[in-house]
Amino acid sequence: MSAPPVTATRTNKKATNSTCGVCIHSGRTYHGAPALSREDNKTLICPDCGARQALQSISGNTAEQEQIIETIHRHMESRER
Ligand SMILES: [Zn+2]
Repeated sequence: MSAPPVTATRTNKKATNSTCGVCIHSGRTYHGAPALSREDNKTLICPDCGARQALQSISGNTAEQEQIIETIHRHMESRER
């Protein structure tokens, strides 16, 4: 279920094959691999909304979901250093 982390070059921010799109859920511009919406299985949404939908299926606790997403973000940030 979890996608392997993309190892990007630290100096070059323009990845040649990076996907870029606007999430219809949050209206955010995202980079990287989009997530497939669980609602219709064809809409592409940002990884954040994808994680949120996935978490919704295992837990109805919204506060808990936000906490997990926050944790994911923190891990991503620390990995970039
Ligand atoms: Zn989104």
